[in-house]
Amino acid sequence: MSTPLPSLYDHAIADLPLPAGQPAFRRQQLADWLYRQGVAGFDAMTNLPAAMREELASAYRLEPFAATARFPSRDGSVRYLFTLPDGKQTEAVYMPYAGRRTVCVSSMVGCPAGCAFCATGALGFGRNLTRGEIVAQLVAVARHEGIAPTDIRNVVLMGMGEALLNYDNAIGAIRTMIDPAGLDMSPRRITLSTVGLPNRVRKLIGEGLPLVLAVSLHAPDQETRARIIPTAHAHPIEEIMASLEEWQAAIGRRITIEYTMLDGVNDHAWQATELARLLKGLNSHVNLIPFNPWTDSGFAGTPRKRLAEFERALQQAGVSVSVRFSRGRDAGAACGQLALQGAERAPRPAAGPAA
Ligand code: SF4
Repeated sequence: MSTPLPSLYDHAIADLPLPAGQPAFRRQQLADWLYRQGVAGFDAMTNLPAAMREELASAYRLEPFAATARFPSRDGSVRYLFTLPDGKQTEAVYMPYAGRRTVCVSSMVGCPAGCAFCATGALGFGRNLTRGEIVAQLVAVARHEGIAPTDIRNVVLMGMGEALLNYDNAIGAIRTMIDPAGLDMSPRRITLSTVGLPNRVRKLIGEGLPLVLAVSLHAPDQETRARIIPTAHAHPIEEIMASLEEWQAAIGRRITIEYTMLDGVNDHAWQATELARLLKGLNSHVNLIPFNPWTDSGFAGTPRKRLAEFERALQQAGVSVSVRFSRGRDAGAACGQLALQGAERAPRPAAGPAA
């Protein structure tokens, strides 16, 4: 297999390459075609000189994906399966609801964190996505949905992967999303999800980005957490909470707590009490997520009645909480399900990455 050309999307807009002799304003024109128009080929960039287009096309690719498959769901969401030039696959989900167009993007192929209930975790770690492979998911989704990339105003980095373990590429992609010459999004509408890596959360403070930080807590006690999330072995829950408090003190934004409801694992009444205690003093909102079963996961979802009781117990303890249902259940909604269908399953790590 020949080495694919590098993608233009891997460049920050200020560093977009220009052929020798081209004036700087061509860079803005090029950015416009990439991020405002989201065109599929250099030929469509009609206000660029033909020689410039030819030179760019000989050195770069536009689309970083070798193939894109679209899986519409009955609830209106659309799952995307992207095949990368090396044959590996990653996923995104388009969710057009209530006047908002949201895309959930991936930061990796598979995930090294290996959470026991997660279909992506069962894939093991494939590789990090490049900056371009992350941001171009938005452009590709927009093109396939017949909208402009800038019509997408909400992004969640909650697909495959632990974004903070692919730190530079994930932050680089976010910087292109918020660049006024790029997708011109508000950082306040970008959600970055993490399993809870205190050192990386502290590093994120230094970026000064008012993102929504979503933390996959999934259990309020160290023992249960360590059972379902391998990274918990390296990061005690108190250390994670301390880093969240620091992030909130610096950035001033409410933190989202993700909590997948697993029958008989993390849904006991005492765990609701413990979760409320843990979150005291932190400005947070808890998303209770009904588990989306996938073959051989070994877990079952909390029955609806008990889920409602858990929610009520949190409310009574003064916790801001709601139930968030997964979209696209009929189209393989559990993140990683599409790719898992065509992949060998990896052995689970005994303990996750400690970064
Ligand atoms: S839940 Fe998130 S961090 Fe855990 S394995 Fe799945 S993708 Fe990775």
